[in-house]
Amino acid sequence: MAAAGDSGSCRLCRVYCDWTIDPGGCVDGACPNLYAYDDAAGRRVVGCVERVFTAEIDLAVLTRVREANGGRFGPLRAARRPLPVCRSAVERAYVSRLPPAGCVNPEFAEPTEGEPFRVTAVPRNV
Ligand code: SF4
Repeated sequence: MAAAGDSGSCRLCRVYCDWTIDPGGCVDGACPNLYAYDDAAGRRVVGCVERVFTAEIDLAVLTRVREANGGRFGPLRAARRPLPVCRSAVERAYVSRLPPAGCVNPEFAEPTEGEPFRVTAVPRNV
């Protein structure tokens, strides 16, 4: 078994793979890692203590956007590998650039919950 690493992005080939998170999931799940404070302008701002995403978001804007989009805010690129509690997914850009042999780093997209696993190729005896 091998750890998949803590990076939110993989650039080991010409496909760009990034973990993304939906900050609406942080609110819906009442994640204990979601912090909030009121700034000088009176806005309630939220962010992630674990720095899964590094932006701070105006909660009123987050709520308005979700109301206008059927509950979705839209994905944010994760700064690190998401935690099991996060509503997350891997987004791929330039998929047509995938090497003929396939993904060179399949551990990157391992599910965030559960044990890690390693993909190996075993030569057959001919
Ligand atoms: S740990 Fe995940 S679910 Fe919790 S606040 Fe951070 S990004 Fe959101």
